[in-house]
Amino acid sequence: MNKTELKAYRARLLGLRARLRGDVSQMADATLKKRRSEANGDLSSMPIHMADIGTDNFEQEFTLSLMQNEEETLDLVEASLERIEEGTYGQCEECGVKIPKTRLNAIPYASLCVRCATQQEQGS
Ligand SMILES: [Zn+2]
Repeated sequence: MNKTELKAYRARLLGLRARLRGDVSQMADATLKKRRSEANGDLSSMPIHMADIGTDNFEQEFTLSLMQNEEETLDLVEASLERIEEGTYGQCEECGVKIPKTRLNAIPYASLCVRCATQQEQGS
């Protein structure tokens, strides 16, 4: 991989990192605000509110699990940026083969080749 290509991937990863960081904090804000408004909820509205709790909990869980995924992705993006600095970007961490550019174009933070990623998913 030449320097121009590496720069392009780096730019993509930096953009992705900025977006992920923005999204994570925005979602955290929204979830916290929601919690606060529930905590300050008027007691007289309790019976109606109780009926809604199931949905609210589900939404909160969904948002939090989404945030967790984004944080995991963010970790992968950070690791990829480190690998660019080290000069090992684009190599499979498991077997060391070059990760195809088509894969890197789709997932710029991929750290494994397709074969190793599939093996890891299958747990073997
Ligand atoms: Zn591999």
